Amino acid sequence: MSRYTGPKCRLCRREGTKLFLKGERCFTPKCAVTRRESAPGMHTFRHGKPSQYAAQLREKQKVKRYYGMREAPFRRLFHEAERLPGHTGEALVGMLERRLDNAIYLAGFAPSRSAARQMISHGLIMVNDHRVDVASFLVSQDDVIRPRNNEKSLALVQGHLELTKGRQLPSWIQVTEAPPGIVVRMLPGRDEISVETREQMIVELLGK
Ligand code: SF4
Repeated sequence: MSRYTGPKCRLCRREGTKLFLKGERCFTPKCAVTRRESAPGMHTFRHGKPSQYAAQLREKQKVKRYYGMREAPFRRLFHEAERLPGHTGEALVGMLERRLDNAIYLAGFAPSRSAARQMISHGLIMVNDHRVDVASFLVSQDDVIRPRNNEKSLALVQGHLELTKGRQLPSWIQVTEAPPGIVVRMLPGRDEISVETREQMIVELLGK
């Protein structure tokens, strides 16, 4: 059986971790990373110990790809995190998790973060009754996110909710039904950040 599953899966295989780039397939045994982990006698992804710089770079690339970000906006967000009080790495991952596309994906309104970005850029999403078409918008506590009140947006979200039924919701968001909505109950704490990362490595790399 061919193991080729497309460029998105290739990114996961290169990073050696699941980046959840392909919607529902990522949660099934068809996932290329899952299959590789369970395949007997497979070689590991890389040989030898990477240099510290290589490991830091890998960590940054992994997180960037996980949230579907380009280099320049990622660095801008990092510098914003640097200006905040407290731990820069935690502030960075906290802001990444609060991105509107991420909240929509986690709530099951979209099967993947890229699908969520598309819905946002097409103007299908409202935050506190205002249309927001910027995927990098950071949600805040008590924000209410809804699809636009038209047939197309509602049908799309209902269909995605059906598709993603059973996914575990993080406790910082709550999904309401009829009409569908997401309530941001609180800001995500460090233990609720969905990406598995050692953010200090990114701080060491970008803070130089
Ligand atoms: Fe492919 Fe998703 Fe698995 Fe990554 S997590 S390898 S994108 S199926």
